Amino acid sequence: MPETIKVTVWNEYDDHQKIPEIASVYPDGMHNAIAGFLNKESGISAGVSIITDPEQGLSHQILDDTGVLIWWGHIHHGAVQDDLAKRVVEKVQRGMGIIFLHSAHQSKPFMGLLGTTGRLGWREAREKSRVWTASPAHPIADGVPEQFLLDNEEMYSEPFGIPEPDATVFISWFEGGNVFRSGVTFQRDLGRIFYFQGGHETFPTYHNPHVQRIITNAVKWAKPTMRAPSLDCPNMEALEKIKG
Ligand code: ZN
Repeated sequence: MPETIKVTVWNEYDDHQKIPEIASVYPDGMHNAIAGFLNKESGISAGVSIITDPEQGLSHQILDDTGVLIWWGHIHHGAVQDDLAKRVVEKVQRGMGIIFLHSAHQSKPFMGLLGTTGRLGWREAREKSRVWTASPAHPIADGVPEQFLLDNEEMYSEPFGIPEPDATVFISWFEGGNVFRSGVTFQRDLGRIFYFQGGHETFPTYHNPHVQRIITNAVKWAKPTMRAPSLDCPNMEALEKIKG
């Protein structure tokens, strides 16, 4: 039997996410909604942590027990402690997978891993978004249709301040005319990274079955293949005799 993938869904969940406009869509928070559909998948065990937990929900114990971390943050990016953001970056470099959702494009771990600003254009106008599968053979696109429609999303637009992705799996079109690389992958050292654009907190994007499929696929794709005990540079013994 394949090993169970342990997922932690991290959310900055605070009073803002408990206002009726958001709580009516996600009564227990987006983190619990995401963990809920992941836990229906055999081979995945998902838990949650939030910014008000001890060590902001990012203790060594939690991260060392996490195969894939999912990150949703927006208005509290700056409140995430620098040492904890660095800890997340290092766990990814050592092999943990990470999935950044929606406004996580300017979280400290996202910018720390990718070395760019994550800058993009945005608009909140309750507009349609059509998600196109740009790389249908990629494992994250498995079972995802050629295209699907989200009735309402926040618009994110190019130019997107990211390095050239390893794969652009999805591209989104927005009703107002903009386009965006909405599903992209990277690898940093041993860790796999996926960013997905959908998921503004007042819209039911994480209830959409295609989005659920994408995130579930991404968890399976990003699971660690190996984890390094440290990031030290080892001094190497010579295998052959060096004549010098
Ligand atoms: Zn948003």
